[in-house]
Amino acid sequence: MQPTCCYRAALDLEAGFCDGCGKPLLRCAAFEECGGLLDERGACGVCVAPELTLDAGGVRDVKVGGALTLPLLLRNTASIGRPLFVKGLWTREAGGDWETADLPWDRLDAGETAPLSVRAQALDRAGEHQLEIGLALATRWRWREEVLAYTAGLAITVEGDEQLTVQQNITYAGDGQQTGTIYAPFRFQSEGGRRSTILDTKPKVLPLTRASRLERAFGLRGDTSLPTVPRNVRILWDGFVPGSTPSDGPIVTADGLLSLGRARARMAGGANDVRLLAQVHEGPIDQENSRSISRQHFSLCVENDRLVLRVESERGAWVNDHHVARGTSVALKDGDRFSPLPRGQGLLSVNVRFEENHGVADTVTLQRRPGTRPGA
Ligand SMILES: [Zn+2]
Ligand SMILES: [Zn+2]
Repeated sequence: MQPTCCYRAALDLEAGFCDGCGKPLLRCAAFEECGGLLDERGACGVCVAPELTLDAGGVRDVKVGGALTLPLLLRNTASIGRPLFVKGLWTREAGGDWETADLPWDRLDAGETAPLSVRAQALDRAGEHQLEIGLALATRWRWREEVLAYTAGLAITVEGDEQLTVQQNITYAGDGQQTGTIYAPFRFQSEGGRRSTILDTKPKVLPLTRASRLERAFGLRGDTSLPTVPRNVRILWDGFVPGSTPSDGPIVTADGLLSLGRARARMAGGANDVRLLAQVHEGPIDQENSRSISRQHFSLCVENDRLVLRVESERGAWVNDHHVARGTSVALKDGDRFSPLPRGQGLLSVNVRFEENHGVADTVTLQRRPGTRPGA
């Protein structure tokens, strides 16, 4: 959770930084509905509030040596009416490979609970069987989607032929805090050779832990070949006409999005965050080529740990000299170049430079290249 001062400060949509603690206000894409701020790993705690429970009372007819189906309930506890979308469900045993489980549904409205189930394979020996459940959840806003993955751990202990115990592991981990496990077992007991009597039938909450490695391994966030772009990445504006960009720093707009195009910049009373004109440095504006730039030509945001450029102009745009159609999103990387104009009219392009530290982009420099005036 972000400090209370930041939530209060964020209500002023013009504010980019908290007047209490000075932190940048990293608003959720859906801020106008949820009023949420993102944590340092890009999650909005208002939009994404899942609760996974093991519906022990639903376990029936567990045969000796058989597979155990674990009935789960997923609840969307969001306090505002924001749906969650389930993108994936996986299980693995004893740190093995992840196996995909079926998803009978994909949307869960706020306040709703829906069933899922996963299978633990043949419990053919006595002893402890470690089971991990992986879950990918998404929150959507217009064309944007943030996907977050979580894991929950279970240990299923088979005690001879008599008893099957499902232990709930509550694991604390990370950030220099204490690490440990609490076991909260509940037991199934055999009845005529079938383990079918459940002693504790209350649903058990399975604590969900954010799973960055799962997010990367499954390509849900970031890209294994590119640095992770955190939501608070610093953007430096280089070579732009003064007053035509926001200040250097993270994206702190009301919807976490920057709008780039021919319309005036906000600082000059317009609708854009960044004004793009065909203009050599601060010299005269090339009116003819500037008219080929749409009022809003691009959107720029951080989505799923990537710096995403979306083409908004019906004329399309050029990324590394390839034409890109309207509505296309491109994950920018170090060395990329984008332009609202084709190369022959190359009076304006923007070069992208990443500075990374241990696989995380700290700073992205967007360098305006005005090019040269034809005939000059
Ligand atoms: Zn604050
Ligand atoms: Zn939100």
